Amino acid sequence: MKIIEKFAINNPCYKNNIPFKNSKPIGMIVHSVGVSQPDPLVFVKNHSVVTSQVVPHGFMGEDGTMYQLLRFNQKGWHGGSGIKGSVNDTHIGIETTEPKGIKYNSTGTAFSITDETAVKSFVSNMFKQTVELAAYLCKMFDWDPLDDGILLSHNEAGKRKIASGHVDPDHIWDRYGFTMDKFRQEVYNILNPKTTGKMYGVMKQVIALSDEGKAKQYAQQMQKEDPDSYWFVMEK
Ligand SMILES: [Zn+2]
Repeated sequence: MKIIEKFAINNPCYKNNIPFKNSKPIGMIVHSVGVSQPDPLVFVKNHSVVTSQVVPHGFMGEDGTMYQLLRFNQKGWHGGSGIKGSVNDTHIGIETTEPKGIKYNSTGTAFSITDETAVKSFVSNMFKQTVELAAYLCKMFDWDPLDDGILLSHNEAGKRKIASGHVDPDHIWDRYGFTMDKFRQEVYNILNPKTTGKMYGVMKQVIALSDEGKAKQYAQQMQKEDPDSYWFVMEK
């Protein structure tokens, strides 16, 4: 995952620069674009114009490059609202792109898959990269990914009546077993890696000197420069 800043300076949402309800975001909404277009830069271009009425904080491609359009401390326009409020006031919004092998009908309400293998591979990569992005944001804002309402899909936010009633990205991710519960768990796993409690030292032979005094001097010098390591002299 890598973030490249491409702020949408002409987008009125960027210009309005409204802070989040509690000055910082409390979570992240995962979207998917709902059209068969894998290239995030196409969307970056479309949303960087004065006439745009929507803009998320970023668009991410399959390779994990996320183009950031809004600052993470300003509200975006990505989730609409429901009777209980709007995720735009509280959550960062990230759009994931969709592969070529998906075909939507003319109203965008139904889709078919023309290449299951390619779509599955794309979704699998996208899921992994989005997990990494969410872990990065969790660290930045001190969110617990398993706390209720922190990491949500647009679909879930809609059901909670805090976003418009869309189905993304679950409509595609679920098809290949990439559920939002799995998503939250994998983010948690990155932030809380399992350890056995054992410690491991790493050894490397650095230099061989015939003069013991010089060898000790060298070890002392390296110890100063690298206090996290333990430097000692041994006879070969
Ligand atoms: Zn959405």
